[in-house]
Formats: sequence, C-alpha cells, structure tokens
Amino acid sequence: MAGSKQKLWLSKSTYLRSLQCPKALYLYKNFYQFRDKPSAKQQASFDRGHRVGRLAQLLFPGGIYIRPASPRGWPKAIEATSKLLANKQEIIYEAAFQHDGVMCAVDILVQNGSFYDVYEVKSSPGVRQVYIEDMALQYWVLRRQKIQLGKVYLLLPKKPQDGFIDLHMDDMEAIDYTEQLAAMVLDVEEGVRAAARTLTLDNAPEVAMGEQCLKPYPCDFQSTCKRGYR
Ligand code: SF4
Repeated sequence: MAGSKQKLWLSKSTYLRSLQCPKALYLYKNFYQFRDKPSAKQQASFDRGHRVGRLAQLLFPGGIYIRPASPRGWPKAIEATSKLLANKQEIIYEAAFQHDGVMCAVDILVQNGSFYDVYEVKSSPGVRQVYIEDMALQYWVLRRQKIQLGKVYLLLPKKPQDGFIDLHMDDMEAIDYTEQLAAMVLDVEEGVRAAARTLTLDNAPEVAMGEQCLKPYPCDFQSTCKRGYR
C-alpha cells in the first residue's frame, strides 16, 4: 500500500462534485470562500447523516475510529489505516486510503476471512445513482491499492427512521454492489482524469446553470453563478 506522502488532490466529495459540474469543482478548489452557507434543511440532513454513521458503527462493534478532527489530518489517517491493516485489525471506522493523490474514507471496513468488506452507510432508504458513484470511487482506490477487497455493500434503512435514537441490523438493508462497481472502473478513471483536467485550467470552465445545479445535491455556488461569475 502506497504511503500518504503524495499530495491529496481529490476526495470522494470533490470527485462527486466534479461529476455533478466541473465548474463546481473548479470554484471549490479556487474560490472556496464564495460557497453559499448550507440551508437549515441541508445542515439538518448533514447532521442526520453523521449521527446515523456513528450509530451504524455500533452494528459492527469493536472497531477503531480514525477520522481526523480536520482535513489536514487525512495523511496521518491513511498511514494509521495502513498500520492497522498490517496488524490485521478486524474493523475500522472511516478507514482512509489514497491512490495517486485520490483519497477516500470507508465508512466501515470489516475483515471477512482474508478479505475486507466495505459498508457505505446512508441515512435514508432508497438507492440513488450518486451513492453508486461514491462507492465506485472507493472500489477503484482500494483495488488500485491492492487491498484484498471482498464485497462492497450499501447499508441503508429499510424505511424512514424517526429520530435515530438507535439502530438495529434488522432495520437495515445491506445491498451488495461489488459486481456493478467492478464494471465501473474505467468510468472512474475517466472521471478522475476529467477532474484533473479541470484543475489545470486557468479559469473556471464555462457551464450554463441548469438541472445539474440542484441534482444530485444543491450546488453551493449557485449565488456565485447567478451573479454571473465566469
Ligand atoms: S451553480 Fe450550477 S453551473 Fe454553477 S457551479 Fe454549481 S452546478 Fe455548476
């Protein structure tokens, strides 16, 4: 497994941002301060996602949580993951990996014999294409790093949960996407190359506002683009 000395230039979230709109990636990397603040509804959704993520860890007890307190800590988290795997740690929460500077954190990594299974946790029922793109990047990074990857599961509630005071495995559905993700490797490579091309530009790519500004997630540069930033 490669070390973490390489500059981390793309993450899961910036990769997904690039797929949604290359201009959004460019602005995020070059004009981060121009982002719109999340609405109360968006913030509530982020908070719920974090809460469910932590509750889901309790379904796989005994793991080690290595998410850093700030993004600057990811290189150390990548090194820590590498050491934990070398020591055959059975369960890791937010295990971190990088390949060619593209990093991802795995919600829950679980040893299964000589393989490691990945669980990507979502807080609401219903599969969305963006979840699959997210898992496809994880699959690509881990396979390129020669991790003994077993299955990749999407773990999500079977029905909307009120309050999320606790979670039980019976409430959750684990859907195996491994085969589908294996067939997406070339798409991920093209997506990563496209992001790299965007980030070599001197100016933001010209993209007209449209459906992509709201889907799959509301873009946080809408005010900037409405003001006519080019
Ligand atoms: S507001 Fe729309 S056009 Fe502007 S960066 Fe976001 S997604 Fe792209």
